[in-house]
Amino acid sequence: MKIAVYPGSFDPATNGHIDIIKRSGALFDRVIVAVLSNPSKNPIFSVEERVDILKRTCGDIKNVEIDSFSGLLIDYCKSKNANVIVKGLRAVSDFEYELQMAHMNKKLNQEIETVFIMTSSRYSYLSSSLVKEVAGFGGCIRGLVPEIIEKEIYERLK
Ligand code: ADP
Repeated sequence: MKIAVYPGSFDPATNGHIDIIKRSGALFDRVIVAVLSNPSKNPIFSVEERVDILKRTCGDIKNVEIDSFSGLLIDYCKSKNANVIVKGLRAVSDFEYELQMAHMNKKLNQEIETVFIMTSSRYSYLSSSLVKEVAGFGGCIRGLVPEIIEKEIYERLK
């Protein structure tokens, strides 16, 4: 059984994230989307809200579940019997950091593989931080984030 963990901040979830979740669901038996609890990042949505948003957006995919975690990703994966870490790759700029993380995680646990899924070209420029920056100045974010949170993002950034 291939159990994959897709970790991230998801603050907020973007359609780029949703795309990776759906495609992971088609590749693995189970996908656990794991929202990282990292208070030092000053998030606009709480961990509980981010979990709820992802549940409302992807909760109907039968082999996808949404959870949260803190601490070492490798420890979390072990606690879930997961053997794969899924990461999305957008550009060369993601690669260097992700390669370093993948090597470190491999050193910490040889049994867990990191698998990279290339971003869909239409979302290749999309990041949560860029969405927040644009929305903070009142720019249009339609089509970039799930519709259910579009209005709320503007509210949170006021
Ligand atoms: P961000 O990098 O947007 O702030 P996260 O830290 O929540 O978001 O990222 C979680 C994972 O999702 C990472 O593996 C990241 O590379 C991936 N990801 C983020 N945005 C996209 C996108 N537009 N397309 C594909 N993967 C993405």
